[in-house]
Amino acid sequence: MPLELSVGVDIGGTKIHFALVDAQGKLYADEQIPTEAIQGAAAVMERTLQGIERMLGLVDRMKDAVVIKGIGIGSAGQIDFASGSVAYAVDTLPGWTGMRIQARAEERFPDLPIIVDNDVNVMAVAELRCGAAKGLRHFICLALGTGIGGAVVENGRLVRGAFGGAGELGHVSVDFNGPQCSCGNLGCLELYASGSGIARLAKEEAASFNDSRAVMQAWLQGDAQASQLMNIAIAALASGISSLIHTFNPEAVIIGGGVAEAGDAFLSAIRRETQKRTSAAMWKAVELKLAAAGNVAGVKGAALQLWHYPK
Ligand SMILES: [Zn+2]
Repeated sequence: MPLELSVGVDIGGTKIHFALVDAQGKLYADEQIPTEAIQGAAAVMERTLQGIERMLGLVDRMKDAVVIKGIGIGSAGQIDFASGSVAYAVDTLPGWTGMRIQARAEERFPDLPIIVDNDVNVMAVAELRCGAAKGLRHFICLALGTGIGGAVVENGRLVRGAFGGAGELGHVSVDFNGPQCSCGNLGCLELYASGSGIARLAKEEAASFNDSRAVMQAWLQGDAQASQLMNIAIAALASGISSLIHTFNPEAVIIGGGVAEAGDAFLSAIRRETQKRTSAAMWKAVELKLAAAGNVAGVKGAALQLWHYPK
């Protein structure tokens, strides 16, 4: 029996990640390149297609030992799941809104099945198949990066909504009198608990931290000003997570992304604050966990879609 592999692709604002992945989520080859989003959407799409070609080229060399199952792509932005095109992307990927990712990939690779989804939805697939959500039916993923992305899995299936845009959990408001968000709403979670949100809070308080990473590090060392900032971020997260728990009654809320790299201390603080804000029966049913699939979750989950979420 030849080994069955899929090409996984994870398109983000700063890097594009490619890999060859098997049905169990094992990586056989991977490569990261800078997105160079500044060159425009057409160039990003071309770099993506060329990366896929390189992965397929590696398989060619393995001859009859490997068959390619298909190509799975996870992309930043809101993805129209039926057409595999970008319904909306923020300006970390200028011009990406409207990009027909799936159609472009199908033109280049007409013989292979291709699935395109949002980057956090594919992260949820990776957590479900080989990460912190293994064996769960109902869970929520929060990716705390530059912004905040989310995914909701209900009874083993991703909640997609009308076109595939469901799960934009960074735009759950935690303060209806708060500052205005790019989405139009006020006080969105993303404004407080993402990397850019924590940096914004630091700037507002005229704190001398360069970025959110510096705030987190100072917080872990007990710095008073960093604690003040992180208390706001953690309260915002707890408030948002509590709303999500009351909405979905999940078995787990899985927290990943760069901000979550602060690890167990960060998770304990969120746990403490969320418990205060959550009704007892709901709290008893839910576990707050750190993501386990790591920084390969995107590329892994993108590829795993071919086996686990065929269109
Ligand atoms: Zn918003």
